[in-house]
Amino acid sequence: MNYSAEQLKKWNEIIDGFRSTTNKLVFEMWIQPLKLHSVNGTEVTAMIDDPNITLNMVSHYQPRIELAVRSAFGDDYTFRILSNSPGDTMTATSLNSRFTFENFVTGPSNTFAYAASLAVAEQPSEVYNPLFIYGDVGLGKTHLMNAIGNYIHAQSPQMKILLTTAESFTNELIEALPKKNGTVQLRSKMRNVDVLMVDDIHFLSKTTIAQEEFFHTFNDLQNHGKQIVLSSDRAPNEIPYIEDRLRSRFSSGLLVDIGKPDFETRSAILRRKADEEDVDLPYDVLEYIAEHINKSIRDLEGALTRVVAQSRLLGYPITVEFAARAIDDMVQGDTARIVTPGTVIDIVAGQFGTTAEEILSKKRNQEIVLPRQVAIYICRELTDLSTTQIGRSFGGRDHTTVMHSCEKISLQMKKDILLKKRVDEIIHLIRNN
Ligand code: ADP
Ligand code: MG
Repeated sequence: MNYSAEQLKKWNEIIDGFRSTTNKLVFEMWIQPLKLHSVNGTEVTAMIDDPNITLNMVSHYQPRIELAVRSAFGDDYTFRILSNSPGDTMTATSLNSRFTFENFVTGPSNTFAYAASLAVAEQPSEVYNPLFIYGDVGLGKTHLMNAIGNYIHAQSPQMKILLTTAESFTNELIEALPKKNGTVQLRSKMRNVDVLMVDDIHFLSKTTIAQEEFFHTFNDLQNHGKQIVLSSDRAPNEIPYIEDRLRSRFSSGLLVDIGKPDFETRSAILRRKADEEDVDLPYDVLEYIAEHINKSIRDLEGALTRVVAQSRLLGYPITVEFAARAIDDMVQGDTARIVTPGTVIDIVAGQFGTTAEEILSKKRNQEIVLPRQVAIYICRELTDLSTTQIGRSFGGRDHTTVMHSCEKISLQMKKDILLKKRVDEIIHLIRNN
């Protein structure tokens, strides 16, 4: 038991007080089932001792009981209600079990965010609080938050986890405001949790009233040692119209960003997704999609789905040509034109008066080495391909050769203004090809 006999006596007196001041039915239904659960420092917690009664039903009484608790225990005491009711397990409704750590593919762009999320999931409230994950849309923020929730739920099913979005928080608040006890209910929903995760928190910048409310929710949870996880499309100091006090709360734990996945990660995600769906995806098609859809993982998945669906519907085999046509508009939507090593090699060869064959050959004379290195350098600049990938496109050269070429050319361009001009012109040509 987490309270003394004296504390229990005080609690029973509080409950008795309600017996005489409340309607009998109300008392028996909603107040009597509240049993003292613990007194931790200045926090008094009651537990609803009836699985049919949810937090929502009793939360109207929370402020009144809190007043009574204060007058019996002392002014700095707080009061909260815990529930065992299945009706209060938010895990079932608010988490998407499809998103787990197991099916999150890691690479340089997201390992840090992944590791931090896993650490929080393993030890909620112990390591990083709040955890603030930010990055562009479609890069895995919501996936990671669900993974955290699913993991905690599997480890500790009794823990109450709430995953919501700043938008639905704002909407709920706006709906709650005119209602009697509306905000009280919302507060108790938000605050009676062990883990609160709010997705797309940047949405708060739209309303000051939601910021105000969230500020207090945040403080309350943090004071009670509860885990908070937030996501946003940008870093706290870049979210416009957010109060400074919130900004500083957001930044007070660990900030992790998710970047755009590199080619290898995109390939791995496609491979995994294809395997999950039992699709036989030829490597060159996978490569084509991974190369051309490089902004968002959501788009990457969408592209694969489209290719597979069209091939099934039309009964065509999945080839690069077929895939290229299927995702044509997704690719054209990109501002830059698609640059492939083949194009770069052809154009560079033409500009240096040599041929693609020579560039791809093993020849090491200076007339060939320079255009080859320039072409490699430009590939690195204009495509999202990894050095390994570029090496492969240059007649199976090693990625260290690619790195060496890039360094060499960028160094030389600093010293040799004519070379720089020449390379810039070629880049311009390729872009407008
Ligand atoms: P965000 O919340 O950042 O906009 P999501 O988490 O909704 O992005 O991710 C978009 C889609 O991409 C989801 O279907 C998600 O499962 C998938 N996804 C994102 N990152 C990864 C990853 N690293 N591995 C596998 N799937 C991922
Ligand atoms: Mg999201």
